[in-house]
Amino acid sequence: MEFPLPTITPVEPKKESPKYIRLSAASAMALRLQSGRFAREFEFGGINLLLNYDNGCLSDCAYCGLARTRPGDYEDKSFIRVDWPLYETDLVIDRMAQYEDKLTRLCISMVTHGSAYKDTYEITEKITRSLKTPLSLLVAPPTLNRERLQALKDLGTDMIGVGLDAITEKTFFDTRTNVPQGGLKWENYWDIINYSREIYGPWKVNIHTVVGLGETDRELVDMFYSLKEKQILAYLFCFNPEPDSRMASFPKSKITRWRRVQLVKHLIEEYHLDRRNIRFDEEGNITGLKDPTSGINKVLKSLDGGVPFMTNGCPGESGEPGCTRPYGSYRPSDSYRDFPFLPATDDLTLIRQELELEKLLT
Ligand code: SF4
Repeated sequence: MEFPLPTITPVEPKKESPKYIRLSAASAMALRLQSGRFAREFEFGGINLLLNYDNGCLSDCAYCGLARTRPGDYEDKSFIRVDWPLYETDLVIDRMAQYEDKLTRLCISMVTHGSAYKDTYEITEKITRSLKTPLSLLVAPPTLNRERLQALKDLGTDMIGVGLDAITEKTFFDTRTNVPQGGLKWENYWDIINYSREIYGPWKVNIHTVVGLGETDRELVDMFYSLKEKQILAYLFCFNPEPDSRMASFPKSKITRWRRVQLVKHLIEEYHLDRRNIRFDEEGNITGLKDPTSGINKVLKSLDGGVPFMTNGCPGESGEPGCTRPYGSYRPSDSYRDFPFLPATDDLTLIRQELELEKLLT
């Protein structure tokens, strides 16, 4: 006797890492996987990759586009306010090899997920086997430990980035620990930062720091001095509310505050600005620079050609800006919060007004 076979609808294979990977829209354009143009022409060679899982990132940070309880499918969620289309990893690696002479820096962003380490390892191995462009990993500390950081270095990873984002223990707790599916731990982040510094060496570790999550300028300044002391890089981001995230209605920092933080950070890092020369008000806002040295006065006059206002990111092979993440801190229709190129003369005129430079010096 014959039994009719039941009709089985084939299950669509999951498009997850390591077989699949997401790519920032700008990176997809640079690799000719997507059409589009930037509002202004500039060289773009930093490729940002992001792990992809059906159940997404298991953390739930209040400000993040990928947060677990933010509505929507993970695949459709934006991250740092830009879209991240999904491709087969092998196709992306082939394209990167094809355009390698134009590339300056590659980066894989992990997410908090049980498979993230294993998949990052596999993709890193494939990339370092096929390409010489320096590779950074923007890591998810809960998935790592000292041995894993060492294993990733042994594969050829050049730099480690840690998205600390919230730069005080309190703002970290409020936005990343004490949230519905939160639980990220300040201590765990610092363990991974310290292990990375030991394993990767001076100026090979960077911390992503966000302006506008509830910290003061004074706390930011303290963090810049402390990281400089440890020979760890601080990369600045401007909080940019993601629609539907829990901080969607939280205001972005005022432009004057943002420009002053950019400028002071640059003066600390590049011109050894003495902390006693920075004036704060009672709330901890930067209000002035007193008795600047003649060197610093010169920088203030020229705004150092606009360098303080460029995007902070991992360098290319010869130290040039390598990762410039266009639109990470602003919308394509907004003026540039950080510039993926040297600001032009008109931009500098505007920046001078935004800084309220005269007030800063009186
Ligand atoms: S600056 Fe760019 S390359 Fe460096 S860790 Fe951050 S995202 Fe990655």
